[in-house]
Amino acid sequence: MSERELLRRTADHAADFLETLETRPVRPEASADELFATLGGPLPERGSDPQSVVDALVDDAGPGIVGIPSGRYFGFVIGGAVPAAVAADWLTSVWDQNAGLYAGGPSAAVVEEVCRGWLAELLGLPAGVSVAYVTGCQMAHVTALAAARHQVLAQAGWDVARDGLAGAPPIRVVVGAKRHVTIDRALRLLGIGATSLEVVPVDDQGRMRLDELRLGDGPAIVCGQAGEVNTGAFDDLDAIADAAAEAGAWFHVDGAFGLWAAASPALRHLLKGSERADSWATDGHKWLNVPYDSGLAFCAHPDAHRAAMSVTASYLVHSGDDRERDQVDWTPEFSRRARGFPIYAAIRSLGRAGIAELVEGCCANARRFAALLEAGGATVLNDVVLNQVLVRLGDGDRTREAIARVQQDGTCWLSGTDWNGEHAMRISVSNWRTTAEDVERSAAAILAAASVPA
Ligand SMILES: *Cc1c(COP(=O)(O)O)cnc(C)c1O
Repeated sequence: MSERELLRRTADHAADFLETLETRPVRPEASADELFATLGGPLPERGSDPQSVVDALVDDAGPGIVGIPSGRYFGFVIGGAVPAAVAADWLTSVWDQNAGLYAGGPSAAVVEEVCRGWLAELLGLPAGVSVAYVTGCQMAHVTALAAARHQVLAQAGWDVARDGLAGAPPIRVVVGAKRHVTIDRALRLLGIGATSLEVVPVDDQGRMRLDELRLGDGPAIVCGQAGEVNTGAFDDLDAIADAAAEAGAWFHVDGAFGLWAAASPALRHLLKGSERADSWATDGHKWLNVPYDSGLAFCAHPDAHRAAMSVTASYLVHSGDDRERDQVDWTPEFSRRARGFPIYAAIRSLGRAGIAELVEGCCANARRFAALLEAGGATVLNDVVLNQVLVRLGDGDRTREAIARVQQDGTCWLSGTDWNGEHAMRISVSNWRTTAEDVERSAAAILAAASVPA
């Protein structure tokens, strides 16, 4: 079989998979034991022809593939993948560019620079922000907070790149009690441990309580949140920006999915003040609906960003021209995938209007979910300001049981969380594919699961 035939056949496998999404259960159908039985075995001594490898992969992995691209997948905050982005992602693999250096892929570098400008406009960021294309919001936090660490210490007369953290002035890091765990891990990787965190209490939606926010002087970083992972709630970013400006603190925004509210004229108000932040972390793989993995860090201080990330080595061909950007100087990775291509394709295929529609459509479906479940006797625990719905069906234990039944039923998939000491069901609507009918079918399945007697 020629390479062309192999790719054609693979495209057919891919299309077959997408066509099964309507009818197959959203959950996986095989246990870990079953998957090890079909996918495992000894290290192959000899190779096999590519076609049989791909065909066997499709057969053997199939039962363990989750219907994440389905319009009825509502777990975590996942996002789907728009067709143009999937196709561009395939080409990214075929082209196999090394986007670390301009010399390793001029088109990759230019596309990333073009998207930088488009994304700044869509997300309401200052036009001059620098960008890093990384694996996810986790590494976007690492990148942005490394720039923050560099800058707040430089302001205190300390060069962290040269001297490290030993003996450095302490950095106060102020975070909300409902921050995402990836903030803590990013700080840990940067040598800032748990005892350096000052945790601000939050209100019933998970928003930082501003009456408890104190920044003081000295090197400080404050992390605000645009989109709490359970409720979708936004911190009062405007007030945090004021406090940060007064204290001379670095203001970082975790907007993994919530930053995309800026793409909607109807929702942009939720982000008031975000434009005054010093750095932002978000995802392409969540609400822009590009395939995994795709994270984005933005920084209002390109010099600090670059100082925190840049490398020099005699064998690297650095172009030195601003229009021929070497990504190694902006990301924690060295060699890297050309993640700009799928982002570029998603933006071109949707346009500004299509992205606004995607975001608003998900929010409308989240409100529809909340209304249907409430009408069926469930308690909606959050103000549905965005795409997240937090629900309790009776008490926490009944909710936990209902979630297990919903997952087993397979009409849709979602999971739970602890909210104020009791279990709750989380629903995240973040996929372009989700229709009103998907929501109606799923709400009916949830209410049926909740009505089974204990
Ligand atoms: C998903 C999420 C993250 C982590 O993003 P990854 O892309 O999974 O690394 C961080 N913060 C919030 C608010 C999130 O929802």
